[in-house]
Amino acid sequence: MNLVKTVVGYPYIGDNRQWKRVVESFWKDAISEEEFRQQMHDLRIAYLKRQQALGVDLLTVGDFTLYDRILDLSVMFGLVPARYHTQGNQPSLDTYYAMARGAKDVVACEMTKWFNTNYHYIVPEYEEDALSFQHNYLLEYFEEAKNELGVITKPTLIGPYTFLTLTKGYSKQQRAAYILALIPLYARVINELTAAGATWIQLEEPALTKTLADDEVKLVEEIYQQLAAETTGAQLLIETYFEALTAYDRLIKLPVAGIGLDFVHGKKENMEAIRKFGFPTEKLIAIGCVNGRDIWSANLAQVTSDVKTVLALSGVENAWIQSSCSLQHVPVTTASEQKIAVVLKEALSFADEKIQEIIQIADHLVTTDEGAKQTVSHSTNAIEALAADASRQNQKVKQLIEAVTEQQFSRETSYENRQIAQQEALQLPDFPTTTIGSFPQSADVKKMRAQWRKKEITDEQYADFVKKETARWIHIQEEIGLDVFVHGEFERTDMVEYFGEKLTGFAFTDKAWVVSYGSRCVKPPIIYGDVEWTEAMTVKEIVNAQSLTNKYVKGMLTGPVTILNWSFVRDDIPRELVANQIALALRQEIAALEEAGIVVIQVDEPALREGLPLRQENKDDYLNWAVRAFKLATSSVLPTTQIHTHMCYCEFNDFIGPIRALDADVISLETSRSHGELIDSLQENHYELGIGLGVYDIHSPRIPKIEEITAILTDSLQVIDRKQFWVNPDCGLKTRQQYETVEALKNMVAATQKLRQQV
Ligand code: GLN
Ligand code: ZN
Repeated sequence: MNLVKTVVGYPYIGDNRQWKRVVESFWKDAISEEEFRQQMHDLRIAYLKRQQALGVDLLTVGDFTLYDRILDLSVMFGLVPARYHTQGNQPSLDTYYAMARGAKDVVACEMTKWFNTNYHYIVPEYEEDALSFQHNYLLEYFEEAKNELGVITKPTLIGPYTFLTLTKGYSKQQRAAYILALIPLYARVINELTAAGATWIQLEEPALTKTLADDEVKLVEEIYQQLAAETTGAQLLIETYFEALTAYDRLIKLPVAGIGLDFVHGKKENMEAIRKFGFPTEKLIAIGCVNGRDIWSANLAQVTSDVKTVLALSGVENAWIQSSCSLQHVPVTTASEQKIAVVLKEALSFADEKIQEIIQIADHLVTTDEGAKQTVSHSTNAIEALAADASRQNQKVKQLIEAVTEQQFSRETSYENRQIAQQEALQLPDFPTTTIGSFPQSADVKKMRAQWRKKEITDEQYADFVKKETARWIHIQEEIGLDVFVHGEFERTDMVEYFGEKLTGFAFTDKAWVVSYGSRCVKPPIIYGDVEWTEAMTVKEIVNAQSLTNKYVKGMLTGPVTILNWSFVRDDIPRELVANQIALALRQEIAALEEAGIVVIQVDEPALREGLPLRQENKDDYLNWAVRAFKLATSSVLPTTQIHTHMCYCEFNDFIGPIRALDADVISLETSRSHGELIDSLQENHYELGIGLGVYDIHSPRIPKIEEITAILTDSLQVIDRKQFWVNPDCGLKTRQQYETVEALKNMVAATQKLRQQV
């Protein structure tokens, strides 16, 4: 038996975010293009050497990027929309970054979520006749590894079917032409790599794990037959991940030399399929057995036994032992972590540790060596130690969860009656105006927080500063004439971290960064223990803000599902249970706010949609428990207390059902990008609760004119009843300047006043 140790891909940011610094220095003109290219090259080589030292047999190239791997492909295939053709249509590095980030006179390409991850890619845009072969960067990466390390690497790229389904801007009629033009380009990349000596080429096809209709399966077959016809001598491996391969019995026969399957997220289904249909023994199987999506140590005994089963069932001679997907979704190494508890650190595994696990699993399969046995028991011990840790044995949380009753998941009073009660109690004007929560995090705010973190100023000094900033913005809101105020969130850097630091069960790392998009990295908290509310988290700040004005100030919380979806989450209990623990903690916070006299409380859920499973058949179950967690958090309040929520970063048109199910008295939605469609969809679904459609785009520094806002308001009024109509911007204002914020909001209020006079 021949077992090759490899990964689908390795993180490109570096253990100290070196990559981010190189990219950003280039953007700031601190280094020349030549220096930039040299430093990027050095990083690529360093990462390969690092993996080699860890024991990877088959190294991968093409998992590296200068911004985004999908954008790399778009540019290589000439899919550079005409609006970026500043220097002819030979895409330069400036063109590449203009597509990614926008430039002086041109907006960036659209960016969207990569399947069910928190990574965002640049959406390829089809334009007729645009397709043309540009620079083959994969060949460059392949050659440099061959020349400098003397190794034959495995080039990887997103496969043609996935690339096609991610592209926007082509009609049904244009699709055939697109495919016809695209396949020869793929064939050319592959042929050039094969000619240069590549033995294996990996085509990543995560789209093959989504629900596929029969004609889609057919299309995949046609694409690969065509690709096989146009390539010579190449060994292609189709790599699937995030779920089991869909339509296994047909797609397993695609004319390629190897298939990679995810035996973590698609374990049960892939196993069943192999049992039922076998595996074509002439093909190579790549066994994705170490989780590339979480940060937990693998249970080596369990995984080794799974791999044995797969090998026995498939009956193949050659296999790759690898991560379930690219390791770009996890941080680089736990070795950088200094401050987390030992019992937690021992049970963690980031990219480098996951590679070690892959090596251990492969070794364990071929030897009966004592050393191999020891590593297996070490992993079991670490997992057991964490399981026994007090953080996971919180009896109080257990009791609270057990005591939850079905009534606690819904408000006592129907929306119809709540609306009447709230109107009577709150006496808000028609078309109430409000904002989403945060006000500008100015240089001053950031400086003071940094000083406070470094203990250069005292807790008191910092709290004082935050108080002053809040008071200043309460005053500004009075002057603008808004109806429902916010405190501004000056005490928060991040809407998850702020709460995580105050609840039990959360850990924060030093350097566990992952890329969210481009050079933007996030450091998700780790939810490793039971989540308990121990003290009020927001009451002091909100009550202080409320004491400064006669207008209502909204309590401001992050919802349970968003906290869950933006964290790394323990894997020993169901996510649903973790969500409910967080929900109960928030429920206590909401009770504390209500007790302190706060009557409007907003619970943000911008990431509700992010946890949506890829497969149609799993979506309802997720939505059901996600919505229930939100309701568990928010349903205890009096009928007169008004619950708000906010959502952004996603498509809402097919999401009105779940939004309605939240039963929030008022929702504010980000809409500036697809306003018309959303309005249609609200009408079709008879949405009757309070709703504020973002009337301007907060992502742009541009100040919207009164007439523009009026047009949007008048338009929305066609379908939204005045009794449910709220007026607000698209999202929080923390990234804007004070001047832009104030001017834009003044125009929003002026447009609203005009509307009040007209109707
Ligand atoms: N209340 C948060 C804010 O205004 C909401 C942020 C978000 O939607 N992502 O910043
Ligand atoms: Zn938002």
